[in-house]
Amino acid sequence: MIKISLPDGSVKEYEVGVTPMEVAISISEGFARNVISASFGGTTVETTTPLTMDGSLILYTWNDEGGKKAFWHSTSHVMAQVLEEMYPGIKLTLGPAIANGFYYDVDFENHKITDADFKKIENRVLEISREKHEFKLRPVSKAEALKVYKDNVYKTELISNLEDGTITFCDHSTFTDLCRGGHIPNTGIIKAMKIMSIAGAYWRGDEKNKQLTRVYGISFPKQKDLTEYLELLEEAKRRDHRKLGKELELFAFSSKVGQGLPLWLPKGAALRDRLEQFLKKAQKQAGYEQVVSPHIGQKELYVTSGHYAKYGADSFQPINTPAEGEEFLLKPMNCPHHCEIYNVRPWSYKDLPKRYAEFGTVYRYEQSGELHGLTRVRGFTQDDAHIFCTPDQLDQEFKNVIDLVLYVFGSLGFENFTAQISLRDQENRDKYIGSDENWEKAENAIINAAADKGLKTIVAYGEAAFYGPKLDFMVKDALGRQWQLGTIQVDYNLPERFELTYKGSDDQLHTPVMIHRAPFGSMERFIAILIEHTAGKFPLWLMPEQAIILCLSEKYEKYAKKVLNLLENHEIRSLIDNRNESIGRKIRDAELQKTPFMLIVGEEEEKNETISIRRQGQEGNGNMSVTIEEFVAIVNEEIGKTLKTFTV
Ligand SMILES: [Zn+2]
Ligand SMILES: [Zn+2]
Repeated sequence: MIKISLPDGSVKEYEVGVTPMEVAISISEGFARNVISASFGGTTVETTTPLTMDGSLILYTWNDEGGKKAFWHSTSHVMAQVLEEMYPGIKLTLGPAIANGFYYDVDFENHKITDADFKKIENRVLEISREKHEFKLRPVSKAEALKVYKDNVYKTELISNLEDGTITFCDHSTFTDLCRGGHIPNTGIIKAMKIMSIAGAYWRGDEKNKQLTRVYGISFPKQKDLTEYLELLEEAKRRDHRKLGKELELFAFSSKVGQGLPLWLPKGAALRDRLEQFLKKAQKQAGYEQVVSPHIGQKELYVTSGHYAKYGADSFQPINTPAEGEEFLLKPMNCPHHCEIYNVRPWSYKDLPKRYAEFGTVYRYEQSGELHGLTRVRGFTQDDAHIFCTPDQLDQEFKNVIDLVLYVFGSLGFENFTAQISLRDQENRDKYIGSDENWEKAENAIINAAADKGLKTIVAYGEAAFYGPKLDFMVKDALGRQWQLGTIQVDYNLPERFELTYKGSDDQLHTPVMIHRAPFGSMERFIAILIEHTAGKFPLWLMPEQAIILCLSEKYEKYAKKVLNLLENHEIRSLIDNRNESIGRKIRDAELQKTPFMLIVGEEEEKNETISIRRQGQEGNGNMSVTIEEFVAIVNEEIGKTLKTFTV
């Protein structure tokens, strides 16, 4: 018998050789019908793989990432089959699942695939799928594998790098592919499939190699899912932060300044500043102290921290000075600086925790092909803070940070999130710095704090940073897309490297524990996600301009100014559109800017000392006539709904 542990913590005994599908059936027949793939001991397996030892089993349905991955990867096999059928003699290379769908890199040789072929390929994939072919994994010897692929240089290269005895082929229908596994039981559940695009891709991502054609596709268990996905893509295009960022005049890029280095325009800078002030205020209440550190640091600083050894080669290279041998690095993270701030004087356990916060700008080299709007940049500002505490304070500090993160999400309209607890790889532990004992303490602190705060969590083994475990908040935006936002990391490593100490109640020197945390993550990436989540209609408290006063004609400009002054007295951010344009045009422009309130003033309003409110996205030329005081009350009530006061 073997012991199989399941994600709910239960452990059950089964005969040696039981398959994941049989385990699923033993749980419930209904559940088993939805199981499409599995992982065992952290490795992807087939649902038909006989399990021969104790281990943890995860059964995936379409609703799990693991299920989608198997579904999409399996579809790539069927697509490859069709491509081979339609374009004889092509050479297949690799066909993995990706975040949304899958691709297959193909050397089309003398053939050419065009958009016009997509429909035909899709139809044939579905035709084969309907025949319900099972995916069967079979071991092959290296010699046999090489023989089968003797005419395919790519597969030959792949096989050459594999160890004899570990090589498998996957068969379905009449098609066979070199594959290590991770398939759905059969093709029958693939009910919708679309080729999304084709692009050039170098073999192994190396531009010295031959350029292949990457065929991107996606598939679903229902036609309706595909339709919804395509609609979502359209909406995502409309909300793209690069497009809206331009329209709303928030940020820009300049090739002269350099790729991946965003320039914040006045409105964007104001938005950023408001976010910073919002967090600073909450942090002050939570006992943080602001610090400031420079944008560069001596190379030695990062040698001490260990960052240089780990990332140095792939980073911006050292900056030299006229002084020989002097080398500086652009700051890739704020942590080493903050360690040195801690180190300026001795501390007693009574002084801890120390919580140092800084909106610290850091620079990380990304290849130009990896850059994307504000989400992948080369210079960005972290809403960083480092907490130095005693091991006994770790649990409480962790809980406090979670409270702060939840406050931030609540105030910005992110309702839907899960927390990922990233722990060490269960097998390979050599890649982590620090003692086993410390790792266990830290991992338990995170697990306890997350449970105490009732967070919806998932545990990811092998996702921890090299210096400590972490809790990452994964947020779903309005389009259902998942983003990693806030992160909280425990670190036992840097305090040791920087020889940080405090005097304990025993009068001995001890090493403090460090927590890195950033609720937004980076200001750039956070704002990008916020733009796409809200489609530019930020929460009212955050809007660059909350109201715009539209004069029906220049006769009312004086009254408009009076209104503006009154609103300013009430700290409502507003401006006047006194251009010589029609009211229709002014409304259209304000709509594009997503200004929440348009305040129309004309003869009637001037006479009664009122304004006519038109809400963004509403029809008509203003349909609610109110006094300034009434309008202020409306604004404050709406702000109060999202922006609560942070309480410790
Ligand atoms: Zn496969
Ligand atoms: Zn840090």
